[in-house]
Amino acid sequence: MRAVIAGGAGFIGSHLSDVLLERGWEVVVIDSLLSGSMANVAHLAGSPRFTFVRQDVSRPVRIRGRVDSVLHLASPASPVDFFKYPIQILKASTLGTHNLLGLAKAKGARFLLASTSEVYGDPLVHPQPEDYWGNVNPIGPRGCYDEAKRCAEAFTMAYHRAHGLDTRIVRIFNTYGPRMRLDDGRMLPNFITQALRDEPITVYGDGTQTRSVTYVDDLVRGMLAVLESDDPLPFNIGDQNETSVIDLARRVRRMAHSSSAFAFRPLPEDDPKQRRPDTSRAQAILGWQPEIGLVEGLGRTFDYFSRALAS
Ligand code: UDP
Repeated sequence: MRAVIAGGAGFIGSHLSDVLLERGWEVVVIDSLLSGSMANVAHLAGSPRFTFVRQDVSRPVRIRGRVDSVLHLASPASPVDFFKYPIQILKASTLGTHNLLGLAKAKGARFLLASTSEVYGDPLVHPQPEDYWGNVNPIGPRGCYDEAKRCAEAFTMAYHRAHGLDTRIVRIFNTYGPRMRLDDGRMLPNFITQALRDEPITVYGDGTQTRSVTYVDDLVRGMLAVLESDDPLPFNIGDQNETSVIDLARRVRRMAHSSSAFAFRPLPEDDPKQRRPDTSRAQAILGWQPEIGLVEGLGRTFDYFSRALAS
């Protein structure tokens, strides 16, 4: 089997590449390296079943030979990126999705879209089931990502309905683990680096907003279960345990034995107040549920960040 993984040098894409190679697949990674990094796939360079193509998927994508699956994970995804790269983000999930759907159609391949809990915006329904349509501000700072991913889902369903393309959609909730960028700007990379350096831990707002964080190995297992399923409708993949941001900050500080103080900063515009996936569909249809708890997952992530900060 041969997969094209767009965004395969990113945090989640590189873990997905690892697992598919372990399963005996050939993997072609396409990545512009805007937010991805060669360091994430350097260990794969020696494998004869691994190929790397540096390319922005918002330009036409041509891959030689047979392709069985096209997985689209290419997009910067941290809220700090929404300010830095809004146009690249819009292009990756609109033009990029169109190009990759075209590739899948030309090759007769299955297409999997990495969508996001951001399609629910600042949700008015809690927890969020897949049939909730969301509460998104199209012209706010997160609009470039949220609306582009909603467009990507619409493109995917249109190719499924109009061309009979074999498609899958995964809505990814907050995920963490090794290979997140140190300067990623998201909650756990910030908290962990700040705690390890005994610097102030930046808590936005009063920290009562909630998230449910999933360890990357659980997410990747869920994504592959979706890929292997025969259901084109979206699946939420994410942990059920909901935690406030301040509680996560406290936990990270405790685990790091850190003397960091909390530095409260203004809550970013449109920051979702609460987020937790309803994963009944994934449980019933895929038999998927997370296996790695916060203590183990954070422990592994701490190991990675400690090494990365020391090097
Ligand atoms: N957050 C925080 N301090 C930080 C980074 C993020 O308090 O240094 C908060 C942020 O306001 C949000 C939550 O943590 O409420 C998760 O933010 P993240 O950037 O990880 O992604 P989001 O879930 O908002 O897309």
